[in-house]
Amino acid sequence: MATPRKAVALISGGLDSMLAARTMLEQGIHVEGINFFTGFCVEGHTHAIRAKDRARPKRNNALWAAEQLGIRLHIIDVIDEYKDVLTKPKHGYGANLNPCLDCKGFMVGKAYQWMTENGFDFVVTGEVIGQRPMSQRKDTMPVIARESGAGDLLLRPLSAKLLPPTRPEREGWVDRDKLFDFNGRNRKPQMALAAAHGITEYAQPAGGCCFLTDATYARKLTDLWQVRGSKEYELDDIMLLKVGRHLRPRPHFKLIIGREEGENNFLEGYRRQFTCLRPISHHGPLALLDGTADESDLQLAARVTARFSQGRNAPLVQVEVTRQSVTTRLDVQPLAEDEIPHAWYI
Ligand code: SF4
Repeated sequence: MATPRKAVALISGGLDSMLAARTMLEQGIHVEGINFFTGFCVEGHTHAIRAKDRARPKRNNALWAAEQLGIRLHIIDVIDEYKDVLTKPKHGYGANLNPCLDCKGFMVGKAYQWMTENGFDFVVTGEVIGQRPMSQRKDTMPVIARESGAGDLLLRPLSAKLLPPTRPEREGWVDRDKLFDFNGRNRKPQMALAAAHGITEYAQPAGGCCFLTDATYARKLTDLWQVRGSKEYELDDIMLLKVGRHLRPRPHFKLIIGREEGENNFLEGYRRQFTCLRPISHHGPLALLDGTADESDLQLAARVTARFSQGRNAPLVQVEVTRQSVTTRLDVQPLAEDEIPHAWYI
């Protein structure tokens, strides 16, 4: 028996990438999955720590999808390399800070590199023409193929019939007749195909796969870059942008205030890196102060923190402030609701 051809499939954890990989498996192709961790992935973060999302399964959807498909999954950390993609996107940003076209080109390029290093034959993605305004358009699909270096070794099984035949099709490694012509934002064909394969459970179709498409998150990241004076970030920075309320009462500091117990516990892990405030006379959130603060700033920060405690209507709230391992206690009057301007919220 001939050795089966080998494809590496980008697996996001969503339905499309699952279906693309499944289509290849149906044709007897040996498939292994690849997933890239940029730090901005929605996977397994806020919904793992917030009570309001408690009902959602706490799982990594890419791993889960690979397990459903019965394939190996390679999760690759690209946090550092991704910084250039995000901060200098050749094709610009989408509606928020999502550099989708550059991002797709980068990920397909990484998959292509992995393919050549590991003796695989081609790359598969779950892209569908017309599904996403920036990266999944008929005119941008060739851009991704070209800029990633994958060229015609990049196969999109779900829209392949609407695209020129790729090498895997021309060489007969895969049967083009058994590929698809999905087009546009209508999800019904994918759902029908999923049903035909007995796939009944999958991550939310067409959901954003990363925080960069989120307007609130993008605002917080823009604020971070503005304050730093450059588009720099570390993993901790971008993780903290996913958690808590962010308020900037003064240009030189911001507060990250836990919205619930899960977030307070998460922020607790950072208390040694930041000035940390916590109401102790009343139940209330943990707040991290990011920036510099003199005594009057600390008073203000304590009053803001008190505002989000159960003592918000009390005349005084005692707030514990820990800075560089030194703890003090401040008795402060909580700010009234109208003393917190909307402009403070990032
Ligand atoms: S949504 Fe995020 S991960 Fe997906 S292509 Fe766009 S930038 Fe990349």
